[in-house]
Amino acid sequence: MADRASDADIVSIPKVELHIHLNGSITEATALTLARRHGVDPAEGLKLVDGRYPGRYPNFEGFLDAYLAANQFVRTPDDLELVAAEFARGQAAQSIAYSEIIFTAMIFVRNGMEPASMWAALRRGLAVGGPDTRISIVVDAIRDLGAEEAAATVRLVEAADAPIVGLCLTGIEGTMPVETFLPFRADARRLGLGFTVHAGEMGPPESVEASLDVLGAERIGHGVAAIRDPALLERLIRDQVVLDVCPSSNVGIGEYPSLEAHPMTEFWRRGVRMTISSDDPPFFGTTLTDELRHLVRIAGLTRGDLITLQRRAIDASFADAATRAAVRARIDAWADA
Ligand SMILES: [Zn+2]
Repeated sequence: MADRASDADIVSIPKVELHIHLNGSITEATALTLARRHGVDPAEGLKLVDGRYPGRYPNFEGFLDAYLAANQFVRTPDDLELVAAEFARGQAAQSIAYSEIIFTAMIFVRNGMEPASMWAALRRGLAVGGPDTRISIVVDAIRDLGAEEAAATVRLVEAADAPIVGLCLTGIEGTMPVETFLPFRADARRLGLGFTVHAGEMGPPESVEASLDVLGAERIGHGVAAIRDPALLERLIRDQVVLDVCPSSNVGIGEYPSLEAHPMTEFWRRGVRMTISSDDPPFFGTTLTDELRHLVRIAGLTRGDLITLQRRAIDASFADAATRAAVRARIDAWADA
């Protein structure tokens, strides 16, 4: 049996991250800066413990409190540019060749940002990563807020000047029937965009099935509930459905007691077509590099497995063919070196 991937391999391989929220990438330092910029005492406005996000939360709502507290201070295009630039620098520092960021545009619009200035600020910030740090945008609608939120999100996307490659449904599963979002799904098709759904995160296996069967999701965010349903797990393996899995996030909201108890190891061994991401990295005290370290340590991935995982992720992305080919070439060059 081949040796485990080394830490140098994990650090240096050109990586691909498909499930990361820009709204969930506001570091503590940036949140403090923005709170002060808007005249708010951070001790009042942010849910920090000893200057840090808690990292572990009693439940999803506990995480959401900390996340929304930080997001309320991203009010102007300059604020958003700061967040996006810091994000892009962080991806570049991790050798992340391609990222698909989930962007909840409506949060910033509700904070008072004018849409055209919002997209321009986002583009300027993301460009800071440089040409080797390619970043595309997937715009999400929060399902708890219903059909009108989804329709408003689509109107923003239609008017946007930004590299948007997909739409995504996020939020708390079960708060609305999935049929509510059939028009949102149809809009993705009409606009030639990819479509992905957060499902089987806190919700049951049936939520994954409905996302595939009713909404025709092209990828599933999380999907970890499938571990509880052997028939669904078989189906995911047989049909090679892509799950964008975020281990520390699931542990951080209390879905699993530890990374060792997380289904990623069984998914990997059984041949589930998963990719690995960090979801909301500072809020869960993690990075993509750390998530890969956990998987290598716990599931014993080799250097070859690590390469397979990155190739699989770029192939499953919503990037155009030229971008996919360019990123794939970087992974191939690293593999051959
Ligand atoms: Zn997510």
